[in-house]
Amino acid sequence: MSEKVNVPDIFAEDVFTDAVMKQRLPKSTYKAFKKATSDGLDLDLETADIIANEIKEWAIEKGATHFAHLFQPLTGFTAEKQDAFITAPDAEGKVLNAFSGKELVKGEPDGSSFPSGGLRATFEARGYTVWDITSPVFVRHDAAGTTLLIPTAFYSYNGEALDQKAPLLRSMQTISDASIKLLQAFGKSDVTRVTPSVGPEQEYFLVDGKKFLERKDLIYAGRTLFGAAAPKGQELDDHYFGTIRQRVAGFMKNVNEDLWKVGITAKTQHNEVAPAQHEIAPIYDDANVAVDHNQVVMQTLKRVACQHGMKALLHEKPFAGVNGSGKHNNWSLVTNKGENLLEPGDTPHANKQFLVVLVSILKAVDTYAGLLRASAADPGNDHRLGANEAPPAIISVFLGSQLDDVLKQYIARGKAETSIEGGILTTGSAALKDISKDATDRNRTSPFAFTGNKFEFRMVGSRDSIAGPNIVLNTIVAESFEAAAERLSGATDFDQAVDALISEWAKAHQRIIFNGDGYSDEWVKEAEKRGLPNLKNMVEATEVMGSQEVIDLYTKYGVLTPAELKAREEVRYENYTKVINIEALTMIEMASKQYIPAVIKYTKTLADTVNAVKAAGVEATVQIATLAKVSALLVTAQDALTKLESAIAEASLLEEGVVTAKFFHDTVFPAMNDLRDPIDALEVIVDKAAWPVPAYGDLLFEV
Ligand code: ADP
Ligand code: MG
Repeated sequence: MSEKVNVPDIFAEDVFTDAVMKQRLPKSTYKAFKKATSDGLDLDLETADIIANEIKEWAIEKGATHFAHLFQPLTGFTAEKQDAFITAPDAEGKVLNAFSGKELVKGEPDGSSFPSGGLRATFEARGYTVWDITSPVFVRHDAAGTTLLIPTAFYSYNGEALDQKAPLLRSMQTISDASIKLLQAFGKSDVTRVTPSVGPEQEYFLVDGKKFLERKDLIYAGRTLFGAAAPKGQELDDHYFGTIRQRVAGFMKNVNEDLWKVGITAKTQHNEVAPAQHEIAPIYDDANVAVDHNQVVMQTLKRVACQHGMKALLHEKPFAGVNGSGKHNNWSLVTNKGENLLEPGDTPHANKQFLVVLVSILKAVDTYAGLLRASAADPGNDHRLGANEAPPAIISVFLGSQLDDVLKQYIARGKAETSIEGGILTTGSAALKDISKDATDRNRTSPFAFTGNKFEFRMVGSRDSIAGPNIVLNTIVAESFEAAAERLSGATDFDQAVDALISEWAKAHQRIIFNGDGYSDEWVKEAEKRGLPNLKNMVEATEVMGSQEVIDLYTKYGVLTPAELKAREEVRYENYTKVINIEALTMIEMASKQYIPAVIKYTKTLADTVNAVKAAGVEATVQIATLAKVSALLVTAQDALTKLESAIAEASLLEEGVVTAKFFHDTVFPAMNDLRDPIDALEVIVDKAAWPVPAYGDLLFEV
């Protein structure tokens, strides 16, 4: 049995929490800090020095030797540069621990190797990290010892954002300002801040560490690039919510404890649909904190998996033929008075403010469907979106029967008078109490679904930062809110103006509402008729970022300058190109150094057997037939390998950016599939003992 854990006792013990701050800082410093946080002010250096000193003392008590600014460059990963607290030795050769306000507030990593999309040349190395005072500092214990970690945003020397954090914080300000305007139109003048709440559900796979190391594709690409299906996949649905294996359970226990200690509310865990696939979800938090926490969750999954002799795969599609992994980004808007703007109440038809919020979101999502889709674009996610498991690549909104009905009433009659009720679920047994039902069922095929008092954006890739989608959501909804606020605050008859707005916008944007099966082919056709974009891959989706409409939107709200946006677009093309290039090179290496030599050896064994059997005076029909089949596939594989090699060579001659990215999508990627096919076919017939790498069955069922 494992030792007893009382969660409240350990929760946030490694975080410099508000309570710790209050207790340790001089009253005036604490007050100054709180004021800076709530009013978005700069901290003066004197205050920063006092805070830094206390943070240092606290961190050292926890065992910290180093500190690091955590930031999220455009790689999607978390980056950090660790510095020891140590000072230069004094005359007697003694060192001290020191940490100044300046070091807390500002860092200067040499950021030249991070992608900047042309925002700066390689020789312009300077980049600055700036402490995000709204996300608490914490310590991490790992093999490196204990490190004080400071969440930051990352800028170039010229002040351009080189990360996800800066635009995220800007977009949070934008949605706050716009929401306040809208609420003011409704006569609520006491709201001073509106914050997006975000709860990300994180999916991942676990594989055995030793087997992982035998697969070059998992090592280099994070996904299997070859592999025939195992006799069993996920068809029995026996893994979903099934009993968690003990090895995995032990891993989850450690993950939870590590997360609780750093103040992350790890709440839900379960087995997912695919074998070896799992999910973890925390309780939602302010968007920027949720983004930071999700990065820590991903790091923790990886670290703890290693400690348990396993590897955590965050790739969107580690295995063909079974589900891939995504991240559900649950999003709502909460005022500083505690009101959730997405709470419909029991009678949504009578909740005008909610209905205005709702149609504003419909307008935003319909107008910027392509941009929202682009925010979830990732080379790995191309394997999921639209592939009958994850949501389709087409953005639509699921409202459920209740809200759909309310809006239909508005569209038909300019007002709504009723709300469908949930009703009662009869259990049919005296032992089981009848229960009240939600007014609406769920729809798991929808990419953007209303789930009670929040929207759930389900397209996000499992390894991606959730910053991107939240930047988009905050900004596009802010624009709608502003438009609504403007209309309503100028109205002579407010109630009539509200009804008119709800009817008008519901009607104008009803094409984005879809409550049916998002996986079906009929929907693809229907969506096309409705004129909804179907951006099938990352390259197509990324092109949206260059549209004038998007440039104008981001410029208007100061979320991203045209230069910053352009840089992000470039970084994506570059990322797509590099990822597919690595995958292709890995396939070439595996095919030429592992699979083809193994099969050649196997054909020799077969040929020797044929000769031996014949020499013994017996017919060798089965052996000969197998040899013929294997040899034919070997020829196909060798041809495909040659073609893939020349495709890569051709790609290197092209102009960088969208042109190369397109070539990788249109030419290199299909060539990769053509190589995979014969190798996978060989795997099915070649003796397992002769096969050079662990098979799908070994990876998925023997964790
Ligand atoms: P569901 O089963 O409807 O997806 P869960 O309770 O499993 O809901 O929640 C999924 C995630 O959504 C969790 O991280 C949860 O904290 C988060 N969540 C719940 N309510 C909200 C909300 N109002 N705003 C944002 N996230 C929320
Ligand atoms: Mg959910």
